[in-house]
Amino acid sequence: MALSDEVKARVSLREIVEQTVTWDRRKSNPARGEYWAPCPFHGEKTASFHITEPKGHGGQFYCFGCGSKGSVIDFIMARDSIPFTAAVRALADHGNIDRTADPARIARFKAESEARQQKAEDEAKELAERGVTQASRIWRASLADHPTLITYLEQGRGVSVAALGGIPPTLRLHPDLPCYEGDGGKRPRIVHRGPAMVGFIGRDRLVGVHLTWVDPVNPALGRARFANGIKVPKKFKGRTGEIWGQPVVLSKPEGTLVVAGEGIETTLAVQSATLVKNPGFEGRFEAALSLGALCGPEAKTGARRGKSARTGKTLPSPIPDLESPRPGWLPPAGVTRATILADPSTKCPESARLNAERAEAKAAHHCPHGARLAIPRGQWDHNDDFADLAKKGELNA
Ligand SMILES: [Zn+2]
Repeated sequence: MALSDEVKARVSLREIVEQTVTWDRRKSNPARGEYWAPCPFHGEKTASFHITEPKGHGGQFYCFGCGSKGSVIDFIMARDSIPFTAAVRALADHGNIDRTADPARIARFKAESEARQQKAEDEAKELAERGVTQASRIWRASLADHPTLITYLEQGRGVSVAALGGIPPTLRLHPDLPCYEGDGGKRPRIVHRGPAMVGFIGRDRLVGVHLTWVDPVNPALGRARFANGIKVPKKFKGRTGEIWGQPVVLSKPEGTLVVAGEGIETTLAVQSATLVKNPGFEGRFEAALSLGALCGPEAKTGARRGKSARTGKTLPSPIPDLESPRPGWLPPAGVTRATILADPSTKCPESARLNAERAEAKAAHHCPHGARLAIPRGQWDHNDDFADLAKKGELNA
């Protein structure tokens, strides 16, 4: 107990976390002790994992994606799957901290540590509330059935809006939304502004919004790009910690089959192609919004995993952690079958397949009649997702 408080106060969280992650330099602000990185606990490409450690020791971490949080001890316990006492011992040795007890010193560190923990929790709560207020404001300022959104979806992404019976009510267009970068810095700056597709995240109430900026001059060109040609990144706003795993629901909640994809456009492309072929089709369509949420965490089996032939990185596991308190996307209540829309990848076809198989296994666990994978062209080694196939006319064939 006591030694742990001293460990929390004196060991540098940044140093420990750095052993595992690479900081996002653009978002991080070392002068203020603010660091951002892709979360080591849930699969993601963007940096939602945040640590704050202005004094260079005694920091706290918080993931705005999956909600994992705590001290350097919590971090080591989760990362290395070791118990509390082992984590404290390892960190004490790492920080050259005397493991023998001194009551006065112990009491001081304990009080300091509790105050710090409370402050971090208050800040996280405040940020979460601010997020959902912002999300709700953006949603209310956005417009239903906007022609710009129809053009973006139809010509930019190969979706037949007519087949869908109109734009789903969970998608709106914000005519002029600023895109901020540099959340870790003092003043986030606007890097782009223009029309954006706003997705309502949450099955029964708004927990956040998903933002996709579209080309401001010609929405038929697809997503908005910076001057250097790079796409303006998609963003989330909302009740942090609650968003991850919550979908944008793209159809009426009817039928016993759910079709889930990572992206809104991919899922809509399959939905509209299905309805073109079979207008009476009954099924629910949901976008899980991130690969990590769709696939969920990996089981800790301890089995040695191979390396990717293309990237040299350790391959993901196809086995889901079915006991995880943060499973990511799950099929909605009442469905009996699931179809998972996979995204192929030339970067590492093997990883794409293993991740998709984990998503399939997780969904199958929650569906009495099982789950199956839909793979674009039935192959993993290319970069066309279902929206790309739709745009190329390969889906309606
Ligand atoms: Zn996370």
